Amino acid sequence: MYIPYGTQSISEEDIQAVVKVLRSDYLTTGPVVKEFEEKVAAYTGAKYAVAVSSGTAALHAACFAAGIKEGDEVITSPFTFAASANCVLYCGAEVVFADIDRKTYNISPEEIEKKITPCTKALIPVHYAGQPCDMDAIYGIAGKHNLAVIQDAAHALGADYKGKRIGKMPGMAVLSFHPVKHITTGEGGMVLTDNEKYYQRLLLFRSHGITRDHSLLHRDGGGWYYEQQALGYNYRITDIQCALGISQMDRLDSFISRRRLLAGRYDEAFKEIKGIITPYQAEGCNSSWHLYTIQVENRKEVFDSLRKAGIGVNVHYIPVYMHPYYRGHGYRDVKCKNAEEVYSHIISLPLYPGLTEEQQDYVIGKVIEAVDEV
Ligand SMILES: *Cc1c(COP(=O)(O)O)cnc(C)c1O
Repeated sequence: MYIPYGTQSISEEDIQAVVKVLRSDYLTTGPVVKEFEEKVAAYTGAKYAVAVSSGTAALHAACFAAGIKEGDEVITSPFTFAASANCVLYCGAEVVFADIDRKTYNISPEEIEKKITPCTKALIPVHYAGQPCDMDAIYGIAGKHNLAVIQDAAHALGADYKGKRIGKMPGMAVLSFHPVKHITTGEGGMVLTDNEKYYQRLLLFRSHGITRDHSLLHRDGGGWYYEQQALGYNYRITDIQCALGISQMDRLDSFISRRRLLAGRYDEAFKEIKGIITPYQAEGCNSSWHLYTIQVENRKEVFDSLRKAGIGVNVHYIPVYMHPYYRGHGYRDVKCKNAEEVYSHIISLPLYPGLTEEQQDYVIGKVIEAVDEV
């Protein structure tokens, strides 16, 4: 038996939805993409949604839409997947890391303030594990310094901040549909926004910078005429993938309530155990629980012993600037004390809708055993 830290839940309906597209006229750039976008937009409350080929492509597109370019600085968390920072480098801009809060593991607004310069153009807060960042403070800073806000909400589909669904806030929010995330399209991502200007730029960027929209063309060049107006990419997602996404959306609420229930069971099981720090939930935040992470004293031994017991624990995250690529490209002396401290103790336990209570109890037993041993 091997229990992964996260995995997809695929139903017979999901499979039938995909097969139906395979028998239809359009495999890509067809009506199912739009239908998926509308469904996620309706769920989150965002006005516009643009589906793309991955969460990483969505981050890149959002940076493009916000006008990030060479000479700009963009502030993000070091305690995230590399893609949250890489997207800034793709645009030729500089990424600046602001340390995290020791309790929530989310980017600290006070640390953001310290990193602001005249070159700062945007903020990329990451909702770690599905718990929203302190968005009131972040929007306060953004407003004061006229910065764009791109939420990396890859962990946070279905999370609420002060009663508001993630995706329904100014700027842009980015989702990922990788199989370990809340819903999957195999690979896939999406940008949510209420801003029409961003929306138009996202559409351009997804497909080579090309538009056929007559209201946007510089001149009337005939029925065949289209224009490449920017340098975009092929970041399109297929109808095959979006059919899976639509079908998964029907079960999103049940996926999230299952994740919340399992997280509650972990909390309960560990609350009396010395040597385990369970996740802290901030006021006004209702996490969608992409990850359940604990801090332990001797992480290496606990990690190795759980892996040996067939439990696919993981570590989220190695601070981005510690990777050799970053160290070799101007980030040699960067140090975010809190991110490094949390990194040295953190471990992600299995959490996904299909995890049974028996499996979870097995994990809990092994975790307590491993913590006791050290
Ligand atoms: C998964 C993830 C991404 C990237 O999404 P992909 O769909 O894998 O490209 C970006 N940021 C965070 C925080 C993620 O967890």
